[in-house]
Amino acid sequence: MAAQAGAAQAGYRPVDDELADLYPADRLAAAAGAAAQAGLDALLLTPGPDLRYLTGYDTHQTERLTCLALPAGGPAFLVAPRLELRSVHASPAGALGLEIVPWDETDDPYRMVAQRIGHLSAVGLADQMWAAMVLRFRDALPGTRQGVASTALRGLRMRKTPAEVAALREAGRAIDRVHAQVPGWLRPGRTEREVAVDIAGAITAEGHATADFVIVASGPNAARPHHGPAGRVLARGDAVVVDIGGTMPSGYCSDCTRTYAIGTPPSDFARYYQVLKAAQEAACAAVRPGVPAEAVDAAAREPISAAGYGEYFVHRTGHGIGLETHEDPYIVAGNAEPLEPGMAFSVEPGVYPGPHGARIEDIVVCTDDGCVRLNNVTRELVIVDG
Ligand code: ZN
Ligand code: ZN
Ligand code: ZN
Repeated sequence: MAAQAGAAQAGYRPVDDELADLYPADRLAAAAGAAAQAGLDALLLTPGPDLRYLTGYDTHQTERLTCLALPAGGPAFLVAPRLELRSVHASPAGALGLEIVPWDETDDPYRMVAQRIGHLSAVGLADQMWAAMVLRFRDALPGTRQGVASTALRGLRMRKTPAEVAALREAGRAIDRVHAQVPGWLRPGRTEREVAVDIAGAITAEGHATADFVIVASGPNAARPHHGPAGRVLARGDAVVVDIGGTMPSGYCSDCTRTYAIGTPPSDFARYYQVLKAAQEAACAAVRPGVPAEAVDAAAREPISAAGYGEYFVHRTGHGIGLETHEDPYIVAGNAEPLEPGMAFSVEPGVYPGPHGARIEDIVVCTDDGCVRLNNVTRELVIVDG
């Protein structure tokens, strides 16, 4: 555990040339420009996906303040506890030419940030900053309006660079290798939890730094989209929804769902599985630049509704993915934002009529004229010998 935390703090060392510029030095300037455009005088980013996106520095949020201050018009600086200095310098942040300002245990780091940054009318705080820190900054910067940093950063983070797409592709291949092993673990008599333990081990064995979630939803549980693995014993005739993902050492995430059957599935299940597969195909075929995100959702919903299962497709079609498993853009009715090349998101329609259900999920990236799928393990119904 300690070794793992140390490795994470040392930052990502690319093994692949394609990933070498995952954290380019010009990103700070781009973010400062985006902050100005969003009407923010500065961004204050505590540990989390935004800090990692801008600097490559990956560390856990603790009560001791670590904060990147990025003024819209001036150079950025990183305030960090003195005891973390070695980790900061060892991370990609150490190579950005960023001023690093250490604080000692008796200093007030919030006041240090405020004194250096001067008077601001509006500041964008990391969306996931702890409330306690938000309030400390409110006191240290009286009269400064607080907003969220995502108003500035979402546009950058949504449009993946080629290096980010390569990192997502690496994640997709890793989770595909896990799915390829799943049929061997789905045996009648085993519990969902036992299967989930095997899967979690494979997620890290296949190259992820962490296994972030493992959904094994069998039989009636398959009708609950976010069912957590429990003590239910797998049986012949079950459909099993397996939705799994993790975070790679690069920081980029995987997320892939396949539905399996143990022995012969119920006949109505087999019928709507084919409808679902066609719907997932139609949604992927609808992806191209200029198409509103909600049109992809509609493309998935149409064949499912036409077959009479519309009321059982109870969630949005997808979510963006990158340094977070769920991020912009959301593929949902009401999101008219046009897709652009480089946007990466899931396409994951589901049908949950009970006493069984199914979902198929791939991560796709919008290209100049369509999309590429980053998950390519078979979407045919895999029937495991019961
Ligand atoms: Zn989900
Ligand atoms: Zn997903
Ligand atoms: Zn998923």
